[in-house]
Amino acid sequence: MITTLGGVRGAGKRVDVQMGCGGLTSCRSGHSRYGHGVKRPLFIGSEIYRGSPYGGWHPLRVPRVSTVMDLSRALGWLPAQAYVPSPRAKPDTLTVWHTPDYVAALHAAEVAQQVGDAVKARHALGTPSNPVFPEMYRRPATAAGGSLLASELLAKGGIVYHPAGGTHHGMPDRAGGFCYLNDPVLAILSLRRNGARRIAYVDIDAHHPDGVEVAFGDDTDVLMVSVHEDELWPRTGPTGVTGQRSIINLAVPRGLHDDDMALIQDQVILPNVTGFKPDAIVLQCGADGVEEDPQAHLSLSNQAHWAIVQSVMGLAPRLLVLGGGGYNPWSVGRLWTGVWGILNGFAIPDRVNPGSETILRSLRFDGNPSMAAQLSDHSDTRSNRLGL
Ligand SMILES: [Zn+2]
Repeated sequence: MITTLGGVRGAGKRVDVQMGCGGLTSCRSGHSRYGHGVKRPLFIGSEIYRGSPYGGWHPLRVPRVSTVMDLSRALGWLPAQAYVPSPRAKPDTLTVWHTPDYVAALHAAEVAQQVGDAVKARHALGTPSNPVFPEMYRRPATAAGGSLLASELLAKGGIVYHPAGGTHHGMPDRAGGFCYLNDPVLAILSLRRNGARRIAYVDIDAHHPDGVEVAFGDDTDVLMVSVHEDELWPRTGPTGVTGQRSIINLAVPRGLHDDDMALIQDQVILPNVTGFKPDAIVLQCGADGVEEDPQAHLSLSNQAHWAIVQSVMGLAPRLLVLGGGGYNPWSVGRLWTGVWGILNGFAIPDRVNPGSETILRSLRFDGNPSMAAQLSDHSDTRSNRLGL
């Protein structure tokens, strides 16, 4: 299995991922609607993700974005002209949503490499899930900077992939679930500043995007559609339509598989996004819903995620695809590399090339055996599955 990009297929159907437009009478991804071939998709990345683990036991100690960069290059999918280095967001660009006190506390915590009890209580910094680590400001500020840059690059339309983004639990004045800043919120606000009025945010991470809902719950120009595991941390987002009828949550049971997700795609995601007539789509493509992920209990395959990526292409002139959760290094690396392939119309190979195989074989993962004990600030067993 390590030699494929496909991963577990779940119990569901396979979808056609040979999605180049040639030979089809009409482009399934809808490229022609917004100028097929006018712009190539751009990939925003950074070397900071290669060496900034959250800590020795933390689920985010595994490499993720760097694996996607390495695999994409090994496959010949990431030429220099498609790669954009992520800038680090300046503090005043973060305070359009985060509070100045919180941004200052986050920066100070990185400098001091410790936090006091008051900061820990007020801002949820220095907790087991949001620990102090050497790059605890620079890394999320780089992810925020990437999403802000993406929104600017999309001012005139196009597709941008930013797998380091998707930190959807961050709150205005506190960290949450491994998320210090909320780059999806910052991206949506920036898209608005750059010409998009109506924005559809689709989130297929296993966890509910509580921070995004807090930001846009009463905003009729933002449609949020979230599919997440029921009763998983943060346990928000019960199934229903709320806000000004623009927040759609679908809390799904454990074991959700590809057939279920195909139904959700066709009957919930696509009709609502299409009917909303968005100027931009932001797709949070968290990889923790796949079968092998240690933090959730869904049984999706890569195919389900890739099908959703493909299905939203062409539904708006701007598409920003973000990452999110994903804690099995082989799963997240392959899934998100495949997302980049789908966005470019590349055929997903049945077997990766030797260079890619070497990258995959070099990854190490020993599970999360001690996490429940480490997360002693949460009481029940499900709380050992926190985050993104
Ligand atoms: Zn998640």
